[in-house]
Parts: sequence; C-alpha cells; structure tokens
Amino acid sequence: MVKTKEKVDPIPKDLFDILTCTLCKADLEYSKDKKGLVCCNCGAKYPIQEGIPNLLPPKSKKF
Ligand SMILES: [Zn+2]
Repeated sequence: MVKTKEKVDPIPKDLFDILTCTLCKADLEYSKDKKGLVCCNCGAKYPIQEGIPNLLPPKSKKF
C-alpha cells in the first residue's frame, strides 16, 4: 500500500463538526498552520493544545 501524505487534522472530525465559536456561535475553521481554530464570522482565535481545542473566549485580548 502506498501511503499518501494526507493532511492530518489535529481534531477528530466528529468533534470538529460540533465546535462553534463561544462568542458568536458561528462555525470554526482551521488556521493556516492547523495549530488553531479561527471563527469564520468574528475572527476569534482558539489554540489547539495536544489535540484539544481551547474554546475559552479570548477575553483578555480585545481589539
Ligand atoms: Zn465568532
């Protein structure tokens, strides 16, 4: 069997599908390097730590 270089998602798809932004409840998408999640509505960023997304609202960082 030939192993293709697939992009491995850090989060299981089942989990990813139910993740929403804690601020505006919009869908999340992976950041460019897939080390975090970005809200596609408000742009809030959530880090992924050891395969677990940290969905605490980034309250300390306000624009
Ligand atoms: Zn949002």
